[in-house]
Amino acid sequence: MVEDIEQMAFNIPDSVLDDIQQNIQDIIRNFDVPEENKLEIIQQINFMYTRTKYLSMTDELTGLFNRRSFENTFEKEFLRAARYSNKLTLVMFDIDHFKQINDTYGHPCGDYVLQQVSNAALQTFRKTDTVFRFGGEEFVVILTETDIQQSIIPLERFRKTIETLGLKYQNQEISVTVSVGACQFRNEFLTKEDYLQKTDQALYEAKNTGRNKCILY
Ligand code: GH3
Ligand code: MG
Ligand code: MG
Repeated sequence: MVEDIEQMAFNIPDSVLDDIQQNIQDIIRNFDVPEENKLEIIQQINFMYTRTKYLSMTDELTGLFNRRSFENTFEKEFLRAARYSNKLTLVMFDIDHFKQINDTYGHPCGDYVLQQVSNAALQTFRKTDTVFRFGGEEFVVILTETDIQQSIIPLERFRKTIETLGLKYQNQEISVTVSVGACQFRNEFLTKEDYLQKTDQALYEAKNTGRNKCILY
């Protein structure tokens, strides 16, 4: 039942939900109640709506946009690149031997590392690029108006930033590295899944050829 409701909510485009929200406000304005009460009801509904929308798009631990948000944004950017030949580079990165960090220093330390790596990603990439937590210790970044050549410098800078982060948890130094896979959009990708899979392949290659490196396709 809960899954049914989630599925229904997922299938309603955000623009339609925004329209419904607007219509609810219009209905309340027509109620036969004092004006100040109407205002308060509308404010409360607005607050709940905005908060629910925010929670549905973000990841609680890191504050980054979540997987659901990625699917929506990626679909839009994929279509834009396919239709208008906009430059687009998709990036996946994954923390190296993260299980070992959890096992050695504990799960709260793992959570702390996830937060710090997320902050570093937010600071490294441009405001027009979006960083998402894809799941676990895996992240994606959508670099808009960027081809693979232009992505080399920021990706290498990010990899280096993480390598030299110098994180400390309860006075213990934690060494963290990430493996990065990136792929420029090309017309041969007929679906966004093809494109994502190719990017994942680049990440896989980075993992299999020594980790702590960027592989660009
Ligand atoms: P690799 O270098 O191949 O990526 O190895 P890895 O150890 O990073 O990869 P693996 O997939 O074996 O382990 C990922 C670990 O991430 C296992 C899981 O318990 C942990 N993890 C996933 N989500 C969270 C989280 O929210 N917090 C913490 N602390 N750990 C998490
Ligand atoms: Mg990992
Ligand atoms: Mg992983």
